[in-house]
Amino acid sequence: MAAGTHYLPGLTPTNEASVQKSDDAAGYYTLGDKLVDPKAPTGPIEQRWTTRKFENRLVNPANRRKLDIIIVGTGLAGGAAAATLGEAGYNVKSFCYQDSPRRAHSIAAQGGINASKNYKSDGDSDYRLFYDTIKGGDFRSRESNVYRLAEVSTNIIDQCVAQGVPFAREYGGLLDNRSFGGVLVSRTFYARGQTGQQLLLGAYQAMERQVAAGTVTQFTRHEMLDLIIVDGRARGIVARNMVTGAIETHLADVVVLATGGYGNVFYLSTNAMGSNVMAAWRAHRKGAYMANPCYTQIHPTCIPVTGAHQSKLTLMSESLRNDGRMWVPKNAEDCAKDPRDIPEEDRDYFLERIYPSFGNLVPRDIASRAAKYMCDEGRGVGPEVDETDKDGNPIKRRRGVYLDLTAAIARLGKEAIEEKYDNLLDMYERITGEDPYQVPMRIYPAVHYVMGGLWVGYDLQTNIDGLFCTGEANFSDHGANRLGASALMQGLSDGYFVLPNTIRDYLADGPFEKISEDHPAVVEAREGVEAQVQKFLSINGTRSVESFHKELGQIMWEYCGMERTAEGLREAIGKIRDLKKEFWTNVKVLGSADSLNQDLEKAGRVADFIELGELMCIDALNRRESCGGHFRAESQTPEGEALRHDEEFAYVAAWEWGGDSLEGAKPVLHKEDLIYTAIEMKQRSYK
Ligand SMILES: Cc1cc2nc3c(=O)[nH]c(=O)nc-3n(C[C@H](O)[C@H](O)[C@H](O)COP(=O)(O)OP(=O)(O)OC[C@H]3O[C@@H](n4cnc5c(N)ncnc54)[C@H](O)[C@@H]3O)c2cc1C
Repeated sequence: MAAGTHYLPGLTPTNEASVQKSDDAAGYYTLGDKLVDPKAPTGPIEQRWTTRKFENRLVNPANRRKLDIIIVGTGLAGGAAAATLGEAGYNVKSFCYQDSPRRAHSIAAQGGINASKNYKSDGDSDYRLFYDTIKGGDFRSRESNVYRLAEVSTNIIDQCVAQGVPFAREYGGLLDNRSFGGVLVSRTFYARGQTGQQLLLGAYQAMERQVAAGTVTQFTRHEMLDLIIVDGRARGIVARNMVTGAIETHLADVVVLATGGYGNVFYLSTNAMGSNVMAAWRAHRKGAYMANPCYTQIHPTCIPVTGAHQSKLTLMSESLRNDGRMWVPKNAEDCAKDPRDIPEEDRDYFLERIYPSFGNLVPRDIASRAAKYMCDEGRGVGPEVDETDKDGNPIKRRRGVYLDLTAAIARLGKEAIEEKYDNLLDMYERITGEDPYQVPMRIYPAVHYVMGGLWVGYDLQTNIDGLFCTGEANFSDHGANRLGASALMQGLSDGYFVLPNTIRDYLADGPFEKISEDHPAVVEAREGVEAQVQKFLSINGTRSVESFHKELGQIMWEYCGMERTAEGLREAIGKIRDLKKEFWTNVKVLGSADSLNQDLEKAGRVADFIELGELMCIDALNRRESCGGHFRAESQTPEGEALRHDEEFAYVAAWEWGGDSLEGAKPVLHKEDLIYTAIEMKQRSYK
């Protein structure tokens, strides 16, 4: 045990607390105190959640209706929480910026949701799901959270089936499963390629039942622009009614953010166009720590970028890797050929070659890097795009690899493939004009999900009292790489099962003193938001908000995307600071504040993305190791695989807002040691 380290009682650590020796980010941040989750559980891992559920205090049903809960977000995490807490009898106010809760980004999820039901009798168990998820996350997640996730996973399926979610079934009527990357069992439940949509309809209906019952009040077309903190507790939000432009304040006993991920910081991503970081970032500026912001998931199977006109990318679900085989031509001179004319012996099924054990089902970070390397080698397919080489000379490269269903169609028949994937394959054909039943699909990695987010303890509470955070918006369960089909699992686990059991312990001390609208903290927050809105409209520069977002995205993808270097990250930080300076002096926001104004909405989101992008680069610069989706070129094995340095970096990086970097302020880094007791840290191998 490192000198001065104290472990929680009941834990027998299998690793040491890390001691950072290298510091590429020196000068960009200040080091704060170590962070310890005050709610971290102890005891045998399989009993921790049961014990916590029992120990957390209950709230008398008669008192619940006196307690107000604000939940921002109506995706799977927020919708499930609103439905469950409404059912329990609390007074819930639910917010989203779409015109219906049902339009939350969760609806886009395609492939499936994991659960350790072991329906295929292929050796699955809670422990195996736990193990796969920790390993998939490259040993950078918290083991207690992940074990709980695995444990709760089976309840989710029961809950959703009871709601009528139409999961795919086998001929005999039993629920069907398929496999996702990073595992050797079939544990993914699905509803064709629309799993998110069906799950969200289930959560939405359960929530609407509570709206009808009067326990949930719904505020659509409302965007949270700030958090209200009174005497150190989160007590409400400032929101803009997006239709009338009115700035409103909403007060409560507790606030939950379930506001989704921030992958759109890269401009091009598979996320819904509206997904943004505003709610989490405004809470961060008010003191909530942002954890591991640089951990970004790049998904291998997206439709390749076709040109500079694009503002959105499309995912082809990972489920297709159950039956699809990824390959490139063995010879660069075949790359321009029709793939059907390239004989079997001239094809390189690179994932099957490099990773014979997991083959096409390696985790996303590994498949993405492998696809990139094939293209870097000059064996990519599809149209040539303009790039520059290492010395800055212009070159042409093809950025695509094949995902080929031919063998599966021959083996199982076209009908069986249609049955599983028809909506995905139709979508591919509509976008590319190519028939994937005839011609192998072309795919390339793209930004898809973020493992970083607001820091939360085991009880999903941030470091601000009374501010909880769930779903993709928090950092909690996936470490440095999320395995496929586990975001839906986490969102619903948080919303249906975890939060309702942890928030009650906090609410048992309520109701808290009533706050009036003219409380100085409320007035200050509202006036701050009003001033920012006026500031945006008054700059009246020459550049569109969109152009700033696009430039930021290009910087992020180039320097903080699939491969990162110390030199590149430092350059990116400089470029982002210049962009920020220009944004605040030269942006042109059209329209007015008192009506629907999408330019104004976007200005706020882009302003936050710029600050977040800078922090992501500082976080990536500090972490001089490669783990999961965070690949530092300086830290790789001779075979080009990610190389971790547990002795230096086995910690969660939780960043505290230090102030505006343009005024010389620096973020403060708090480290939470990742101590394992139920699993041994190992270098990952999928070979
Ligand atoms: C194309 C695609 C396919 C995917 N497929 C899968 C899959 O098959 N399996 C899987 O496990 N995962 C999948 N994922 C990931 C998964 O869909 C998401 O991680 C998950 O749905 C996020 O849910 P959430 O509830 O946390 O947030 P979201 O669904 O993003 O909901 C966010 C909510 O917050 C609200 N909100 C945000 N900011 C504000 C604000 N400032 N004010 C008011 N409201 C706000 C929004 O209105 C919305 O209601 C996929 C992701 C993509 C992009």
